[in-house]
Amino acid sequence: MRGLKLGAGLVALLAIAVPAMAETTVLNNVTVIDGTGAAPQPNSAIVMTDGKIVWVGPVSALKTPAGATVKDLSGKFVMPGIIDSHVHIGMMHDVTQDEKYETPENVQADLKQYAAYGVTSVQVLGTDKDFVLDMRNQQRKSRPSMARIFSAGQGSVIKGGYGGLVGVTNPISTPEEGRKLVDEQAAKGVDFIKLWVDDERKTIPVKMPPAVSAAIIDEAHKKNLRAVAHIFYLADAKELIREGINGFAHMVRDQPVDDELLNMMKAKNVWMVSATLSREMAYSLAIMPWLNDPFFTRGVTPGTLIALKSMDREKAVVMGPTRFPGLPYEKKVFFDMDRTLIQALENYQAMVNAGVETGMGTDSGPNGRFPGFNAHEEMQLEVAAGRSPLDAIKSATSDNARWLGDNNIGSIAAGKWADLLVLDKDPVADIHNTETIDSVYIAGNSVPTIWQTCRDRPESQCQPRPADLPDMPY
Ligand SMILES: [Zn+2]
Repeated sequence: MRGLKLGAGLVALLAIAVPAMAETTVLNNVTVIDGTGAAPQPNSAIVMTDGKIVWVGPVSALKTPAGATVKDLSGKFVMPGIIDSHVHIGMMHDVTQDEKYETPENVQADLKQYAAYGVTSVQVLGTDKDFVLDMRNQQRKSRPSMARIFSAGQGSVIKGGYGGLVGVTNPISTPEEGRKLVDEQAAKGVDFIKLWVDDERKTIPVKMPPAVSAAIIDEAHKKNLRAVAHIFYLADAKELIREGINGFAHMVRDQPVDDELLNMMKAKNVWMVSATLSREMAYSLAIMPWLNDPFFTRGVTPGTLIALKSMDREKAVVMGPTRFPGLPYEKKVFFDMDRTLIQALENYQAMVNAGVETGMGTDSGPNGRFPGFNAHEEMQLEVAAGRSPLDAIKSATSDNARWLGDNNIGSIAAGKWADLLVLDKDPVADIHNTETIDSVYIAGNSVPTIWQTCRDRPESQCQPRPADLPDMPY
């Protein structure tokens, strides 16, 4: 016993005597795409110490710190980690969505998956149990090795109406109940307030009335929180702007946006936080074209793949409507979705052209929308809608960081967290090249990429990475 005690004392002494060494890594000979929209900088180096970027500049000016680990990444490209401003986490097992799957283990599996796809931060919009806020608080005290959480806690859903996660989100009926819910969420320390204003293409008899949404937004502002709304209709978007909304979680999808809306958004600095184009696309496809693409298959469970390839799903997309277990109404998810996708793309283009502030968000997490994978799809759809790849990268990085109000992420500059995505091929030349993931860093921690891991099974059981990637630009 005595010897053991002495040994422990010696270890403690040594720990005090040896000063903590700074951990420094240099990513050398890379092209830096800094996320601000600035031109890519070839022949660059990034120095990160203890999880932060401490220097970025031309290789010719690099002074390698003593003791640094130097990685020669000749030919590779580095962009900031992707930020997805609209997700839900811990919702699914295979293709079944249920409150019971929102466990710390399942949430962590999702956050690791986002990280594997190069998504280093996520904004969860309104379906979080309280433990997610605890996880977020832990992350903010440390150097995380999975995607950073920004959380709207539990969002506001009108009783009998659309939205939320059954079993987690408590529906409200009156303006007073709305204010109370906002106060409760604010007391828990949420980053945003989320509300749903929709009747799912008039299939649900109840929609949140203006008196309730106005009270929720007003109360959010009193608590110094911004409010973001799920919308579908142009008229609701305008009404919510009059009530003071700060951002929209989906595109207007019932009709073309008009100058009145665009001018209102610009005048009041209302953001299109997440156009969720990839969400609309996922629902418009009877057969998803990526079902044999390893970039996709490695991120889903075998059970998910079987369900997605089944005739049942194909029939549901073509025929609709589909009844979802746990929902008190018949949800016509696949009704007229191709028209919805086209409308969303056209309205996204109109907002970008008008100069409305746009982030990048997918609404991934629920059934048919895939954590991490959808972020790459979303950027591809932004480019399909007319943006340059450089702008799509900006929307997913520095613009989203501005929306989140976090000055420490979203671009590559000294002083920021080293949340980085290293790519084999140039994403500015072709946005599909964001899939050529070499490595991912969160707070300087190298985390397993989707080419090194698979969801819920050993890596050996997964489709290998093709030599020539991407081979399927859809
Ligand atoms: Zn959502």
